[in-house]
Amino acid sequence: MAPARTAESSDQSLRVFFALWPPPDVARRLHQIGRPLKQGPAARSMRLDTLHLTLAFVGEVEAGRLDALKAIGAAIRLPSFELRLDFIDRWPHNDIAWVGCSEPSAVLPEFAATLRDALSAQGFPVERRGFTPHLTLLRKSELPSARQAVTPVVWPVTEFVLVRSRRMAHGANYEVLARWPSDPAAVAPVR
Ligand code: ATP
Ligand code: MG
Repeated sequence: MAPARTAESSDQSLRVFFALWPPPDVARRLHQIGRPLKQGPAARSMRLDTLHLTLAFVGEVEAGRLDALKAIGAAIRLPSFELRLDFIDRWPHNDIAWVGCSEPSAVLPEFAATLRDALSAQGFPVERRGFTPHLTLLRKSELPSARQAVTPVVWPVTEFVLVRSRRMAHGANYEVLARWPSDPAAVAPVR
């Protein structure tokens, strides 16, 4: 008889990504920005507890590779910085309404690139398409595809996380697998 599979069996596949996860007060303010934008019959708001900024999408990995991902996270230092989210927009290719920064800090693209380089070096496939820091607020949105300023939400970034995504009928469920505090003394990503 085949050995019973457990949640920890190393051949189990997990869908994972690295992200910034907003603290509750920031998530609440972002969620409030999204609420009045829910127009159209199909529009679906992201739940408050699911709001996040993806840094690097890894995709399906075997559970046995999680330690390698955690080692990558542990080896990179994220400088502490502030994100100032101040506009909303909608991408016409996927009907996602999102919130972004009109003056993005250089820290974020540098950190995302450092993370992706480290993932590639360890044999993880990573998307090389452009990195646009954003938090999705709505799916299937009918918002006009044009930037609209919103009252800025300032997010002091103090950590980054490795997250497991479980895709359910009602939308994805996310579970934080590991977290790494940012370094107030760092000025650029350090490996
Ligand atoms: P669902 O796909 O069930 O609607 P989701 O997109 O939030 O929900 P995932 O597909 O698991 O969940 O994606 C997790 C995160 O990674 C999301 O922020 C998503 O936008 C991002 N992501 C997913 N696929 C890619 C990809 N190929 N490249 C870059 N980012 C991606
Ligand atoms: Mg998806």
